[in-house]
Amino acid sequence: MELKYVSTTCPYCGTGCGFNIVVKDGRAIGIEPWHRAPVNAGKLCQKGRYAHEFIHSKDRLVKPLVRKNGQLVEASWEEALTLIAGKFKSFLPEETACLSSAKTSNEDNYLMQKFARAVLKTSNIDHCARLCHSSTVAGLAAVFGSGAMTNSIPDLEESKCIFIIGSNTFEQHPLIGRRVVLAKKKGSKIIYADPRFTPTAKQADLYLSMYSGTDVALLNGLMHHIIENGWEDSAFISERTRNFEEMKAVVMQETYSLPNVSKITGVPEEDLKTAAEWIAHSKPSALLYSMGITQHTVGVDNVRSTSNLMLLTGNLGVPGGGVNPLRGQNNVQGACDMGCLPDVYPGYRKVADLENRRKMESLWDVSGLPEGPGLTVTELMEQLAEGTSAVKCVYNMGENFMLTDPDLNRTKKAMEHLEFLVVQDIFLSETAEHAEVVLPAACYAEKNGTQTNTERRVQRLRKALDPPGEAKADWRIICEIARYMGYGPQFSYSNESEIFEEIAKATPQYAGMSYGRLENPDALQWPCPEKDHPGTPILHTKKFATPDGLGVFSGVEWKPPAEVQDAEYPLILTTGRIIWHWHTGTMTRRSETLDSEVRTGWVELNPMDARRLGISNQEKVRVISRRGEIVIPALVTEDIKPGVVFIPFHFKECAANVLTIGALDPVAKIPEYKACVVKIEKILPEEGKIEPEKSKLWEGKL
Ligand code: SF4
Repeated sequence: MELKYVSTTCPYCGTGCGFNIVVKDGRAIGIEPWHRAPVNAGKLCQKGRYAHEFIHSKDRLVKPLVRKNGQLVEASWEEALTLIAGKFKSFLPEETACLSSAKTSNEDNYLMQKFARAVLKTSNIDHCARLCHSSTVAGLAAVFGSGAMTNSIPDLEESKCIFIIGSNTFEQHPLIGRRVVLAKKKGSKIIYADPRFTPTAKQADLYLSMYSGTDVALLNGLMHHIIENGWEDSAFISERTRNFEEMKAVVMQETYSLPNVSKITGVPEEDLKTAAEWIAHSKPSALLYSMGITQHTVGVDNVRSTSNLMLLTGNLGVPGGGVNPLRGQNNVQGACDMGCLPDVYPGYRKVADLENRRKMESLWDVSGLPEGPGLTVTELMEQLAEGTSAVKCVYNMGENFMLTDPDLNRTKKAMEHLEFLVVQDIFLSETAEHAEVVLPAACYAEKNGTQTNTERRVQRLRKALDPPGEAKADWRIICEIARYMGYGPQFSYSNESEIFEEIAKATPQYAGMSYGRLENPDALQWPCPEKDHPGTPILHTKKFATPDGLGVFSGVEWKPPAEVQDAEYPLILTTGRIIWHWHTGTMTRRSETLDSEVRTGWVELNPMDARRLGISNQEKVRVISRRGEIVIPALVTEDIKPGVVFIPFHFKECAANVLTIGALDPVAKIPEYKACVVKIEKILPEEGKIEPEKSKLWEGKL
């Protein structure tokens, strides 16, 4: 039998690398480089290299499941769809909510928000961008008029200085890390700010070892020093920005003098001076950030503060510059673009605007679209847990909130108040286990479509295989439910290309795109407003997307995290990912190669803290917060600041989110995953034994 090579896009991080799936006898047998891929030029990280291994897992869902007598049992599609349609019709619009997914395609996401608004008539539609980059969407839109990465990934090679804050780029976005290395080889200076001495820190020329939750203080301190020395870009400030004096008045306060900022952040004053000098004097400088910036109760403030620094130094609208949020999941940019947010239609047009509503009613051939914004997923979970939510029914495509939400004991309570949960996924996730109906979905290799990476590049997914058993593409399932609910004509598409044609009509940034144009491996970066428009690799080259075309400075004061250390809880917990695993591990823990590298989680702590607590490396310990506790092996390492501990969030048996706090940013409603307080206790010796196969992780460590 011949080998078939199908070019498609990686299902993991927001870098959006292209590769070929190698198919033999209807099975994916490997991943091979696709050298024409614009982002990664044929290179891949571990996750991409083994992205075929979970596809044929024996755990794949192959038939619908319906709960009977408390058990999920196999059912026909007809039985499942009839049950869902009947139940959905029985709830009022405000009693329903839909959760979309950044793991699925633009076509799937577009139809999910259309289903919520046009069929269920609810604005309660949200997805996991709420948990990772909603502060980016809100913060950058306020400053630049557009909530997306301003520059392109290849563009980083033009940078003379790259300032990475709150992003472990080399583990989370390795092929963006590669561009940082290439820039460094050309002479670029790399500055890295983070509480952990991560693999990214090891590549940096200057490491700013900061406490979690002190980002605004650090950024204000850098700006204080730049202004004090007259290093700001005055021409850029006067021609292209407004509100400079307001920002200056805040950052020039004594609070943000370098000696004070050094005390708040824990970063030596000399390092702060060097960083400020490098950023101000290296043109162009680029700033990269990720969830270390966004996942805070001050997430929007953090984003505005990063933007202030780049406006101050005139590093916007130029190759090698920019404010560059690195999106987490493969299609989190696309899911936002498609309007899977409770306040905007596709293209970020406000649902509260009557004209926008009328346009969508006309395009979708429906009436009575809901008038106001809906609930965010974090508000929904909070209200459900408190028993105060109107919502009783949730249709969830691919989200695994039983592991990803903060304060999981609260999320469990929220589930108790739901009457009807439908989950559509490729595996029986921790969330699907709570559902009344589970629908088997196709994975990335089994469907066509598009996804939009962190640099706004809309790339093709190409079908390499048939889905297993009776599994179907998400968009087909949504259309089937709509048909059962009497909306067949509005959801009658014969293929993904037809859905994309409608997306182009609904989304101004995508108006000039089509599957034909996206066949070019370089794809297109939005905005691409006309059919002959070449796409936009760099935003804001001449003016910003704000109403007056100016970038907007704002005075941002530093505020501490919602929880701070005290005598009972003396350690700050920060959470994140590791290079071998992804999200809640549903795919990577079923990939033999990835799982064999790292089989479980750990808590990282500094030797000073370990000595104080009498804890040795590899010993199992109990980590306790005000919300719950977990038992987990300790990894004692100099790579983390004293007083700070780190836990990767992929592992259900030691789930970091049992400990995290549900406190939200007041604007973006994003939870504070990156800072809560915990204590660590020793446990009984027999509980503390480490199984031999799990000890590989500690090789070469302290
Ligand atoms: Fe996939 Fe991201 Fe790795 Fe690229 S860097 S191969 S997109 S996980």
